[in-house]
Amino acid sequence: MELKIGECSISLLQGDITRVPADAIVNAANSELRGGGGVDGAIHQAGGPSLMMELNRIRPHGGCPTGSAVVTKAGALPAKYVIHAVGPVWRGGGYDEARLLSSAYAASLRLASEKKAAKVSFPSISTGAYGYPLDKAAPIALRAVYSFLRDAKSSVREVVFVLFDRQTYRAYEDALEALEGA
Ligand code: ADP
Repeated sequence: MELKIGECSISLLQGDITRVPADAIVNAANSELRGGGGVDGAIHQAGGPSLMMELNRIRPHGGCPTGSAVVTKAGALPAKYVIHAVGPVWRGGGYDEARLLSSAYAASLRLASEKKAAKVSFPSISTGAYGYPLDKAAPIALRAVYSFLRDAKSSVREVVFVLFDRQTYRAYEDALEALEGA
């Protein structure tokens, strides 16, 4: 499934993000940037130790704030860069989670553009261990990317959401249909 925005597109794929070639792969990291489970674990596993070595050099004092991102090279992954984005932990919705989630996507795309990336892949940030409800997160993720592609002058032409399981894919499919119809 694909949505066109001028010369740009947003598409959805079900699968493992470490297997999909892109210029920049976005990771759903934690603010310590020390690796973890889920997609973070898979990206470090597939990318190799050079990612963590670079993170150890660039890790901001006190960690990477929620809603922001840092970039490293991609090691053995089929990409040039990995963008480590920190989404919010779901705490019921009254703690600015929506703005922070949107900000994690926008910050990632700004970094991708700084690196002149044309194709960027995203996982579903915050909807695993961080507990963000899928039906709320999917429209926010898609809207954030859509707004960036529509409004920003950037190198990014193609955004692919690589969604690990059927349920996540379905939620994004519904949200993309709603965005298309809006
Ligand atoms: P968070 O802590 O931001 O919630 P998680 O990694 O726990 O991050 O989950 C985010 C999403 O990434 C979930 O939908 C999870 O199923 C998915 N995921 C896990 N492994 C992969 C992978 N290899 N490729 C793409 N998505 C993945």
